Amino acid sequence: MNLGKGAIMGDMRTPETILKSTFGYDTFLPYQQEVISNVLAGRDTLAILPTGGGKSLCYQIPALLLEGLAVVVSPLISLMKDQVEQLRAYGVPAVFLNSSLSLEEYHANMRMVQNGKVRLLYVAPETLLTPRIQALLQTVKVSLLTIDEAHCISEWGHDFRPEYRQMAEVRRLFPQAACLALTATATDRVRADIRHTLDFSSKNEFVASFDRRNLYLAVVSKNGIQRQILEKLQDYRDQSGIIYCFSRRQVDKLAADLISHGHSALPYHAGLSDMERRRNQDAFIRDDVQIIVATVAFGMGINKPNVRFVFHCDLPKSIEGYYQEIGRAGRDGLPAECILFYSYADVAKIHYFIDQKEGSEKQTAITHLNALVQYAENAAVCRRKQILGYFGESSEWNDCGNCDVCLSKTVETLTDLTVPAQKFLLGIHRSGERFGAGHIADILLGSKNQKVLRWQHDQLSVYGKGEELTRKQWMHLARQLLAMGYIQQSSEYRTLSLTPRGVEVLRNEVRVMGVLQEAGSPEKRAAVTQSVGADQQLFNLLRQKRKEIADAQNIPPYVVFPDKTLIEMAAHQPQNAAEMIGIYGVGEVKLRRYGKAFIQVIVNYRRLQQDADQGVLHGT
Ligand code: ADP
Ligand code: ZN
Repeated sequence: MNLGKGAIMGDMRTPETILKSTFGYDTFLPYQQEVISNVLAGRDTLAILPTGGGKSLCYQIPALLLEGLAVVVSPLISLMKDQVEQLRAYGVPAVFLNSSLSLEEYHANMRMVQNGKVRLLYVAPETLLTPRIQALLQTVKVSLLTIDEAHCISEWGHDFRPEYRQMAEVRRLFPQAACLALTATATDRVRADIRHTLDFSSKNEFVASFDRRNLYLAVVSKNGIQRQILEKLQDYRDQSGIIYCFSRRQVDKLAADLISHGHSALPYHAGLSDMERRRNQDAFIRDDVQIIVATVAFGMGINKPNVRFVFHCDLPKSIEGYYQEIGRAGRDGLPAECILFYSYADVAKIHYFIDQKEGSEKQTAITHLNALVQYAENAAVCRRKQILGYFGESSEWNDCGNCDVCLSKTVETLTDLTVPAQKFLLGIHRSGERFGAGHIADILLGSKNQKVLRWQHDQLSVYGKGEELTRKQWMHLARQLLAMGYIQQSSEYRTLSLTPRGVEVLRNEVRVMGVLQEAGSPEKRAAVTQSVGADQQLFNLLRQKRKEIADAQNIPPYVVFPDKTLIEMAAHQPQNAAEMIGIYGVGEVKLRRYGKAFIQVIVNYRRLQQDADQGVLHGT
């Protein structure tokens, strides 16, 4: 592997130039820039950024600018490997040291550190305190000490780790290095604890909003969960997601059900052997399997950015837990859907378990459960506002536009539906007033079904002119037109015909006011590719290429490029290096490594397309 080269450039490097040249991004995410300049100024800094907020760059960019070594302390062994793989793909030399390495690898990595061959060293806290590593680090200059998942320091946090207690000692080993503490969750108390433990002299704190706007939040009442899940999954062919269930038994059952319905799914829970768990998790990370059905045992250390949905078949334990679990969706910033399937019967079930606890533990469990029930049952206040409020974050807006509550509000308001109403009425009229609502919707949507073709309704002027609404919306409109007396329905065959009032609508003499149902409802969300006008076919080809490269290098596909990069490629279709470097996530090293392969896919694809067009022109 070619470490070293590509990372060391001229003196003109700034955080901005590195952001672009190495990582391929144009702008910083909120607070990244502030955190980076603080660290570069040598100040101890505490940064609280949400999942997907870009915490890694906060130390990776300084690591490339500062002289010496950046040490990153992380509690999660699987994440270390992932981070190092990602950095290497960007051409940044980095290694990790932990118990998962063979002795040989361990020594090789130590030598790299000793010889100044790496910019970043990831270690577990207990590793850092071994005499061997301490001796090693005495021989090099440590310029930055990063504590990832810093909330683990505090006993007040929800994830206290005893080995993190040694952080104070670790901090004292490197008095000259700036210290950066990072976490996605920390109450005031935990923050104070972190600063105290790490002996921060000043406050220097950056707290970004918890809000994750790309996550669609909804609560759906649970009835026939298996059918509900199967229906939802129809929107997610070939996309990754996590489905949480309460018990191992439910996990196994649902996973088997999904597989029997042709879905690509695997179970994950504490009842499986370590090896099975590892294997299933790896299959998910590498896009070999799309869906993981799991208990809450699953998720720690999952860095996969393109998780498009997280469904909960049962109640989570707390709002904290829930937010952490759904936080695994949409780390890449693209839309993702989070649905909590809720029934009051589940609450009773959990009460039963809670009753077996005692004392303060029982009390805490009840408090958490109540907060969750309140969330699930409050369909009057924006879900996001409720959650953020729970974490003590106030929000100035009332309508987030991306939760079930806010979207159903817009649904209820009357809007001018004259234009779609006219299309629908015209559809009825042109097809001879002899068909039902479903058939009219099929005509408007340009369906090629037997019935449409048999009656030659694909020849009608309105054929395919109604794609702005979904079939469900057209059916809903039909019911409203019927209720408002613009159309009538024969009792025998349920065929529709216009009333005199309906004719007035067609003549533009009256306007139709009605309700547009669930316009933004996630059931009808466009695939993420469509939202930016990317070519789906090309996207699939690029994905195949990515998988091929990733498998050959034995790394997860997202380490090669995240989905967002492929979507941009499929939209802009860059055909040379100059165009390619403008794409999100394409830095200089990745361009050198992977650019050609992807450009080739695009060029071939365009050639085929042109040939096909020519074929059409020449009638072949
Ligand atoms: P966190 O650790 O805070 O959850 P990550 O560091 O994993 O977040 O970053 C989340 C995603 O956002 C990654 O895919 C990362 O490459 C991307 N990212 C980070 N910074 C930027 C930026 N400035 N512009 C665009 N994407 C970014
Ligand atoms: Zn909302």
